[in-house]
Amino acid sequence: MTAQTTRSSTRTAQTRATQGLSIVVPVFNESKGLPSLHERISEVARFLHAKRGLAVEIVYVDDGSRDDTYLVAQALPATAADVQVVSLSRNFGKEAALLAGLDHARLGAVMFMDGDGQHPPSLIETLVSRWLDDGYDVVYTAKAHRESEPKLRTLGVKFFYDLINWGQRQKIPEDAGDFRLLSARAAAALRQMPERNRFFKGLSSWIGFRQVRVDYEPARREHGKTTWNVWTLIGLSIEGLTSFTVAPLRLASLLGALFAATALLFGIWIMLETILFGKDVPGYPSLVVSIMIIGGVQLLMIGILGEYIGKMLSEIKARPVYFVAEHSVKHADETETDK
Ligand code: UDP
Ligand code: MG
Repeated sequence: MTAQTTRSSTRTAQTRATQGLSIVVPVFNESKGLPSLHERISEVARFLHAKRGLAVEIVYVDDGSRDDTYLVAQALPATAADVQVVSLSRNFGKEAALLAGLDHARLGAVMFMDGDGQHPPSLIETLVSRWLDDGYDVVYTAKAHRESEPKLRTLGVKFFYDLINWGQRQKIPEDAGDFRLLSARAAAALRQMPERNRFFKGLSSWIGFRQVRVDYEPARREHGKTTWNVWTLIGLSIEGLTSFTVAPLRLASLLGALFAATALLFGIWIMLETILFGKDVPGYPSLVVSIMIIGGVQLLMIGILGEYIGKMLSEIKARPVYFVAEHSVKHADETETDK
């Protein structure tokens, strides 16, 4: 055990010495804010390179944008960091874009960050410090203040995490965001996950290693608007739940058992009533109501089963998660970087 720990920590030390950081930024219709965001990330990259000797690259994944995001991204200067631009063949969704970025990242450690400026580049340094100085493998962030969000949403989020974490050994932290840094070995672990239906927050918690949380104040979206609404959020929740846990199925079984037990008790009660008090059996209403309840619950449970079967189908088909249409790499100008 000790030998193993020592071995793994020397390996970490070795890799770290030659290590760099790939910053993966998924972008979907973000052409307006991209140049200024790039400027800010480059600034941090320059600092990291100068202060820590850390090589940095930025991987922009254009998730089939309908505006000129791809052209804008391609024109970005590689002043302090290498710039990769990966353009997907169509809009595959953020999770797929994150995977594309992970697959193209070449420098070991990987950081994921939104392309709309809501994840402040000024926080990159803090995350890097927790990784390099404190030796954490997964540094994830959580929004510090969520009080302003609607009550219903907060309740929904809570229910979602209660369900997904039910009976799990490794709990997915509530309110953790996609802004996170993974060390080289954590990123490698993430790459080994074979599933196509990806739920990054869940996966990067599931892999284990040393994890730490950093609270931050998310910035306001400067350009464009969020692609999420109630329906896409519900979709993502079902996606996350079914690809991650069988808790809904377990809930269905429990509910079934509960109903069966109630029915049994009720049956015994009716029998006793007839035998002891000689009451005959009235009550069409109770009959109709119970049939309707059971019918409804059964349909719901079949729906849940269907979700899982659908998920199995899409995993079995084993289609690629994304296709790359265009890919370019711009190497940082050495003289610039060394300044
Ligand atoms: N995004 C993406 N593909 C999509 C939708 C969004 O790559 O289909 C990117 C988007 O450009 C942004 C990040 O994912 O960089 C987060 O999106 P958004 O700001 O809409 O989500 P929110 O911050 O509201 O959760
Ligand atoms: Mg956003």
